[in-house]
Amino acid sequence: MTLYLRAGVARIQSYVSRTPKLSLLRGASTALTHQQLMAAAASAGFQAHPSAVNVDGVIDVVSDRQGSGEAEASRLAVALRKRIPGAEMHVSWVYADDDDLALGELAALQAQGPGLASVIGDSGRIETLPSPNELPTARLCDMCRLDSATATISVKDAEENRVLSVCPDCSMRNKVSGGTGRTFDELAALDKRSGNHLATIYIDANRLGEVFQTSTANGDFRVIARLSRDVAESVTAALDAGRIAAREHLGCAEDPVIAHVTGGDDVLVSVPARAAWPFTQAYVRTATTDMRQALSTHLNDVQTSSSGSVSAGIVFADTHYPFSATSQLAYDVLRHAKNVVQGEQASISWVHVTVDGRRVPPTRAVLRESSLDSTDELRTALNDFARLGASTRRNLALRYKPGDPNHWETWEQECERLGLEPERFKTLSHPPNPGVFTPVEAELLARSWWHD
Ligand SMILES: [Zn+2]
Repeated sequence: MTLYLRAGVARIQSYVSRTPKLSLLRGASTALTHQQLMAAAASAGFQAHPSAVNVDGVIDVVSDRQGSGEAEASRLAVALRKRIPGAEMHVSWVYADDDDLALGELAALQAQGPGLASVIGDSGRIETLPSPNELPTARLCDMCRLDSATATISVKDAEENRVLSVCPDCSMRNKVSGGTGRTFDELAALDKRSGNHLATIYIDANRLGEVFQTSTANGDFRVIARLSRDVAESVTAALDAGRIAAREHLGCAEDPVIAHVTGGDDVLVSVPARAAWPFTQAYVRTATTDMRQALSTHLNDVQTSSSGSVSAGIVFADTHYPFSATSQLAYDVLRHAKNVVQGEQASISWVHVTVDGRRVPPTRAVLRESSLDSTDELRTALNDFARLGASTRRNLALRYKPGDPNHWETWEQECERLGLEPERFKTLSHPPNPGVFTPVEAELLARSWWHD
């Protein structure tokens, strides 16, 4: 029997976003790449699992040392903690005779926690937290304000070198990033036209967890292993498609997409605001197509039809808005986008912090799968509406009174007064339901860098 282990970083998004500085966020993202974590494990004598999935924040290894599974899991956690001092991790292990069976069971253990009874051999899971702040009276880290400062770093800020006292995790982030890299202002400035707003986008797959749960319950660990590999590949392909769309839209030579987290089907990125819609739509389309293909290849039942689509939450904010807040809000928008369609199709929603504040309006509209298609009626109406002048759009939005029984007539008259063909916008005048676009929502969308 071989001892297989899997280590994964928990709450990866909040770990990455605990510092406000982009170079230190990038430092954490780099430290969490599959390659970097594997290097840390290799330095402690662990070998790569022969059919490991290449996902950031997670590694699969094997150990040929004597010792219990739990002892080896602790040893692996210690090796990783040297590289990522502030991260919360869990490490699972299983003794097995088959690479793919072990991989599938470890994925299931990772997702479901230690309660899962092993079907293939002795197994278990440990969770490890960062060491507690042992010197509460000491100076707090100037960057994250979460741990005691134990080192100093030199940081270039507004063309000025400053010396900061930092905790071990921020010190690592600075070292990994080389102390340089773009700022959020520089990322926004890649867009020569608007230039001071960014979009933070959270994306993940719909109901994939259910597929893994069912496969786990059925003991289909090989299916889990194969699906995990295909999901990782579909994320890479979707990110590439999103990057191409964003770059073409902005017309810039540099890469305008910064991926902070790409763990499993979860992705968190920053892009200049004007690139948000082209990036997100290209990503969602590509990932939805690829994931459905993967599910229909590996599963034979009806689950394929309701799963495998991808949803996204976009938050627009100016470059000085704290990243920890925009990333949390992007997660809330994603939940809203999923809830409105009950995770049954691809969906995208958004919040514009300057207009909406720090919460998702409960009736915020959601762009559904059909509207990702350029011939969709709603999409055409939204495009036509966005092309109107700002004051015309505002007028139409103001005239929209859904409580009034004659609101369609009033709306029609206003369109005619403005010299517009009301039929073009008929889709927007339906009574407001959660997730349905009204002229008010269309006006907000137009102000939120909507394009076509
Ligand atoms: Zn710190």
